[in-house]
Parts: sequence; structure tokens; C-alpha cells
Amino acid sequence: MRAEAIVDLSAIKHNVELLKKTAGRKLLAVVKADAYGHGLIPVAKAALSAGADYLGVALLEEAIALREAGIEAPILAWLVQPGSDFAKAIELDIELAAASLKALSEISAASTGKKAKVHLEVDTGMTRGGFLNEWDQLSAEHLNGVDVVGIYSHFARADEPGEKQNESQLARFNEMVAKVHSLGFTNVICHLSNSAATLKDHAAAFDMVRTGIAMYGLSPDVKTLGNSQSLGLRPAMQLRAALYLVKEVPAESPVGYGATESTSRDTKLGVVAMGYADGIPRIAHYAGIWSSSGKSPIIGRVSMDQFVVDLGPTSKLQSGDWVVIFGNGSHGEYTADDWGAASGSINYEIVTRIGPRVPRIYSAHVY
Ligand SMILES: *Cc1c(COP(=O)(O)O)cnc(C)c1O
Repeated sequence: MRAEAIVDLSAIKHNVELLKKTAGRKLLAVVKADAYGHGLIPVAKAALSAGADYLGVALLEEAIALREAGIEAPILAWLVQPGSDFAKAIELDIELAAASLKALSEISAASTGKKAKVHLEVDTGMTRGGFLNEWDQLSAEHLNGVDVVGIYSHFARADEPGEKQNESQLARFNEMVAKVHSLGFTNVICHLSNSAATLKDHAAAFDMVRTGIAMYGLSPDVKTLGNSQSLGLRPAMQLRAALYLVKEVPAESPVGYGATESTSRDTKLGVVAMGYADGIPRIAHYAGIWSSSGKSPIIGRVSMDQFVVDLGPTSKLQSGDWVVIFGNGSHGEYTADDWGAASGSINYEIVTRIGPRVPRIYSAHVY
């Protein structure tokens, strides 16, 4: 074995239980993008068994995969393209977001047998998805052909509690909910909060929260909200690899493409057979691997399939030995937060981009 992502489903269950208790509302488990790289079906099942009420995905294909796996819980798909097979979505009881009059008319047209269950997505200030200019035109007529079961919006800056934009989005959401009520749809699930808002903004919890990153045990923003540990979350993914090669090299040896770095002393280098094709960011610097003898930093550029670490002259590590690329940090290893910071990115991107060549193993983490 070369590398594996070990996903601890008991950590996901712990996080779901904690978030559901914090919110005190229904919880939609966000499992888009292969459950942020953790594996769609196992994570969905774990989240439901821990009390999640809904599953949320971006794409219709993702929702269909959940149904094909026999999952019967409510599912919301929120980025369903115009021209999609809405009839199939309705047949599979997949709830659909609608963010425009055109989307509503397409979904209505497909609702020939039973009506589609629709969540209206409204733009409260993020200026990405959701009804904005068409909102004032929206009338009961546009909604006749569908079953409106929800209304939702998304925060742009929930990871910055105290930002004015959060208040204005909340106020706008309340106005937009009032309009839906006034159109006669009073029994709708209102949902606004992502992970950050679930953790820090109880006023925004409404009927349901939609938690992604925190469910995987990661902080939405370490700087503003604190790290996993301080939030009581347990990171679910550990990424580890077996060293492909260990070798002694002299000082001043240039390492990797572009010779961007050289060894500062006679040392031992370790080659890890994972690269940017596996989701290790090419730009990563100041991250590396951890073994029982501590951290060893990356030296030189990350390549497509491999990167090199400086193990130090006295290292006892040998090829074939397992090392940890990131984990929950409890043994002093690098975390997904560290890798995010080391590559000008965020923990979300680190776990989500672990590539398909890396098998997901469902077990407790290995040290
Ligand atoms: C991805 C996503 C979420 C989850 O956001 P987190 O910050 O990971 O909790 C919630 N709602 C929508 C609409 C999303 O696209």
C-alpha cells in the first residue's frame, strides 16, 4: 500500500451529535463533493445514524447515488442544472432548490405526476446563488405547480461573527421568509446556517442548520472561531503514506523541479509517493510528514506523484514505514488546518481534493 485516507466514522457521529445539540433544530448533513472527500455513502449513513434529519448535496448525480445506495432520508440537491432530468429527481423523491423563475417553470413542467418538493433559494447578500431581482415578481402562480417545502439562503461571512453583513443577511432572510408565508406557504422549513453560524450564531438557526465542515471535525475558520479541539470537534480524516524511498544525500543537494531548495547539511531524505494528483498542494510549504520521531518538513516542490521530506541525518525511518501527512493533531502531527495554511488555502480544500487514487479506509486512526 502506498497511501490511504483513514476516515473515523465515530468522529463524524460525535460531531453530528454535538452540532445537533448545539443547534437544537433539524440538521442537514452536507455530503456534497464525496462528503468533502470522506466518502459519500459511508458518511451519509453515519450522519443519519447519529441523528441527521436531511442530507444535502450540490449535484443531482450525488443525490441519485444516495438513493441508489438505498438511503431513504430526505435529500436536498441545490445546484441542479437547467435541462436536468427533473422527472427522475421527483420519482426518486429528491428535493430540489430553485433560484429562478426559469428553474421553477422547468421543475413545474416535470411535475406531471406528483409535485416536486422545492426549496426556494434566496440571495440575502452573498450575491452568488438564489433569487434576487426576480424575487419581487414571484407570485403564487409561479409556485402552483410545485410543493414549496423550504426556503433557504447562505451566509458569506458567518466565520466572522460580529460582521455587519451577517446581520443584514439575517434581516433580509426574515423579509423573504415573510413573503413566502404571505403567498400561503406557511409550513416551510427555513434554513440559513452553515457550520460557522451553527457554532456561533443561534439567532440564525431557524428550523434547520446545514453543516458541512464541522461535521468532518474541522473548524470553519481557525483564526476567528478557534481550532477543532477548542470547538469540541473531532477531525475524521487521517491521511497517511508509506515512505517509498529513504536515502542519504550530501549538503547542498538541490531537490526537485526548479531546484527551489537544497539540503542545508548531510541528511536523509524521504520520498512520499503522493503528489498534486492526489491532492497534495503543489505550492505547499512549511508542511510535511510526522512519524513517531516527530515532524519532517517538505523540501523542494511537490510533484504530480511524489514529494520529498527532510528526515534529518539521524532518522531511523526506512522505506515502507508509514508516516502521517495530516491527522487530528493529538500526537503532534500536521493537521488539515496546517496544510491549508501552508498552501494559502483552507482545510476544506485540503480534505476535499484528496484524489480518487487514495483509498478511503473506515477505521480508527492509526499511529
Ligand atoms: C457547502 C454548503 C454548506 C456547508 O457549509 P460549511 O461551511 O461546510 O458548513 C451549507 N449550505 C450550502 C448551500 C452549501 O453549499
